[in-house]
Amino acid sequence: MDSMAQAFVSKRVVTPEGEREAAVLEREGRILGLCAPGAIPSDYAVHDFGTMAILPGLVDSHVHINEPGRTDWEGFWTATRAAAAGGYTTLVDMPLNCLPETTTVAALQAKRDAAKGKCFVDWAAWGGVAGDNVADVEPLARAGVKGFKCFLIYPGCDGLQMVTREQLERAAPHVVRTGLPLLVHAELAEPIEAATAALDGADWRRYETYLQSRPDKAELSAIRLLLDLCRTYGFRLHIVHLSSALALDDLRVARREGLPVTVETCPHYLYFAAEEIRDGGTLHKCAPPIRSQENREALRNAVREGDIDLVATDHSPCPPEWKRLPEGRFDLAWGGITSLSVALPVMWTAMRERDFTLMDLVRMMAQKPAELSQLGDRKGRLAAGCDADLVVFDPEAEAEVRANELHTRHRVSPYVGEQLRGRIVATYLHGKEVFREGRFAGRPFGQEV
Ligand SMILES: [Zn+2]
Repeated sequence: MDSMAQAFVSKRVVTPEGEREAAVLEREGRILGLCAPGAIPSDYAVHDFGTMAILPGLVDSHVHINEPGRTDWEGFWTATRAAAAGGYTTLVDMPLNCLPETTTVAALQAKRDAAKGKCFVDWAAWGGVAGDNVADVEPLARAGVKGFKCFLIYPGCDGLQMVTREQLERAAPHVVRTGLPLLVHAELAEPIEAATAALDGADWRRYETYLQSRPDKAELSAIRLLLDLCRTYGFRLHIVHLSSALALDDLRVARREGLPVTVETCPHYLYFAAEEIRDGGTLHKCAPPIRSQENREALRNAVREGDIDLVATDHSPCPPEWKRLPEGRFDLAWGGITSLSVALPVMWTAMRERDFTLMDLVRMMAQKPAELSQLGDRKGRLAAGCDADLVVFDPEAEAEVRANELHTRHRVSPYVGEQLRGRIVATYLHGKEVFREGRFAGRPFGQEV
C-alpha cells in the first residue's frame, strides 16, 4: 500500500514555468512528472485540491534550530513541526546558537546524532567559518555541509566567533576550493560602537534608540568590504538578511560586474516598519534591525525587481525571558524573531500590492534557497525527478495568527495577532502527509539531505 502511486490535482499548480491546472504524479517519494488531470493513470490514488494552490515545499536556507546545546530555546522536534505547519519541507540550519557550534566535523556529527528521529521535514547544515577553524573548512565540506556562515560582528551569544578581515582572508582560499557559498552576516562593529557611544544616556525602551544604534552604515560598509574580498578571492558570496535598502546600489553594480553575489532578505523586513514598533516591543528586536517604512518600500521594490534573490526566515527563537518583556529594553533583549510557521502568509501579505504572483513566491522561498543550499536538483520545484515535497496553500484565506499555531518551543512572536492573507492547508514530504489542518503525522521521517 505504501508504494501506491499518487496524483495531486489542482487548478493552480505552481511550476517553474507558471501556474496551471495539472496533476503532480508521485511514486516512491519522487515526482514522476506533471500531466493534465484527465490523463492520470487509473491505478493512481487521486487527491483533488480544487482551487487551492499546490506549491513545491518551501526551503528555508536560514534557520536557527539551536540543537544540540540550546534545546530550551528550540530544537529539531519543534522547529521542524513549525516548518511543516508553515509549508516548509527543508530547513538549512545555521552553525551557531547550537552548542557546540558547527565549526568542526565532530560538531556536525553531534548535530546529526541530535537530529535522529526528531525531524518532521528534511534538513541540512551550514558550517561555520570562525576565527580559529581555517583547517576545518575543507573537511566540513567533505562531510556534507552546504556552505559556510561567518559573522563580521559579535553574533549575539557565545559560541561561534566572529571573523576579522584578516581571518576572512585566510579562510577565503579554503572556501573557494570547496566551491560552496560563503554566507555572511554583514554588519561591521565599528559604526555600531560609534553610534551606541553617541547614544549615551538614551532611553533603551524606545525602538528609535535601538534603530539608531545599528545604522545603515554598518551594513553598507560590511557589504563594501565583502564585495572587495569577493572580487579578490572569487568565493560565492551570499548576503544574509539584508535590512538596509541603501546597500542595494552597490549590490546591483557588483552583480552587473559579474561578481558571484546573491542577496537574501527576511519576511520581517518586508512586513514590519520601525514606525509601527511600540516602545518596549522587544519581540521585534533582530539584527540588523527593522528599519523605516521608506526602507521597507525600497526592499519590497527590490524583491519585485529581482535585486533580492530570495527570502529566508532567520527564524531565531529564544525563551520568552530572554526577550526581557517586563523591562522592554532593546539593549538587553535577545535579537531574533520566531516566524517559521507564518513566513509564507507574511510574505503573501507583505507583497500583496506589488503584483506578486505565487510563482514569484515559489522562486524566492523554494527554488532559489534550494539552489543556494546545493539542493536545486531535488528540492524547491515541482518537476520530474524532484522529491515529492508539496504544500497546499489557500491564497485567498485570511486569518489572525494565534500563538498556539506557532508550534515552536516558545509560542512568542511579533506576528501573533496579525491579520494575514493565505493559509497552509497541508504539507507533504516525499509524497506523505506530514501536516494537515493543524494536525501532524504520527512519526517524523524527515532526513538530512
Ligand atoms: Zn540568523
